[in-house]
Amino acid sequence: MTRVTLGKTGIIVNKNGFGALPIQRISMEEAKLLLRKAYDSGINFFDTARFYTDSEEKIGYALSDVRDEIYIASKTMCSNTQEFWEQLHTSLKMLKTDYLDIFQFHNPSFCPKPGDGTGLYEAMLEAKEKGMIRHIGITNHRLHVALEAAESHLYETIQFPFSYLATEAEIGLVKKCEENGIGFIAMKALSGGLITNASVAYAYLAQFDNVVPIWGVQKEMELDEFISYIENPPILNEELLAIIAHDKEELGGEFCRGCGYCLPCPANIEIPTAARMSLMIRRAPASVYLSEEWQVKMKKIEDCIHCNNCKNHCPYGLDTPELLKKNWIDYQNLI
Ligand code: SF4
Ligand code: SF4
Repeated sequence: MTRVTLGKTGIIVNKNGFGALPIQRISMEEAKLLLRKAYDSGINFFDTARFYTDSEEKIGYALSDVRDEIYIASKTMCSNTQEFWEQLHTSLKMLKTDYLDIFQFHNPSFCPKPGDGTGLYEAMLEAKEKGMIRHIGITNHRLHVALEAAESHLYETIQFPFSYLATEAEIGLVKKCEENGIGFIAMKALSGGLITNASVAYAYLAQFDNVVPIWGVQKEMELDEFISYIENPPILNEELLAIIAHDKEELGGEFCRGCGYCLPCPANIEIPTAARMSLMIRRAPASVYLSEEWQVKMKKIEDCIHCNNCKNHCPYGLDTPELLKKNWIDYQNLI
């Protein structure tokens, strides 16, 4: 069983972490079955967020009796200290616990620091002193914010999108975290659905000793696959390296990650899927994206009012309206 030590926190977890965003979409009992199976199989790290509706409540429902044997990370999207405390209290209540192992700022647009006038970092320190949280973390989709956090020595863990499509700069962030004793939690190791071979994704991340991927799990068969890696971890051989090389060439650097930070769109365009439709259609085994429902949704791209809200909020610096336009043209040709 491969284990990862999350930097200086001393937290040692199974290399397969449980990303609890997708369990919002299933019932309480279905979530309990999944979470329990994960725990029984050796998965001991569960990452959730206050923002993920009832995800925390489901973890509390399924795992509160084994609280001492697992690690729980949650997140706050607070913009002031009042929200910080409200959200922390709610998270603890929902999770049926009196402490979080890691509490993370959830994708802030800046790196909170002591004395920056927001009081947010000071609130983290106070929560730690009170024993409500054990370690301070941050999640982000913006490389410059994550790098600033890594260099600040203020954060014990950093959560960032990391997969085999990573750029050299993103790999540099992972190395920086290792040098500075910061645990690296990898989100979107399947790049929001664009990577369809999970074993290749695992094998790539296995090269980085300080990285723990949190797999977003909604179905039992998905969980079973990750559980199988505990005893039989996929190895990065020639065949898997060839798949990575092929995907890197096909996807390039300028693709939509489906993160959704560009929403809401005033024209109600489903940007996170529409802006990468060309890729989804070609990479999904049996494409659902050619349905009448999706044809209607894609046609909405014509309603774009070019407000640039999406472009201004995309952490990857994409020209989102242009990307949507290209995807719409390609989609019409395919139809
Ligand atoms: S530019 Fe177009 S796609 Fe982007 S947010 Fe505005 S209306 Fe929506
Ligand atoms: S366009 Fe940018 S912000 Fe919107 S979903 Fe894609 S990557 Fe995320």
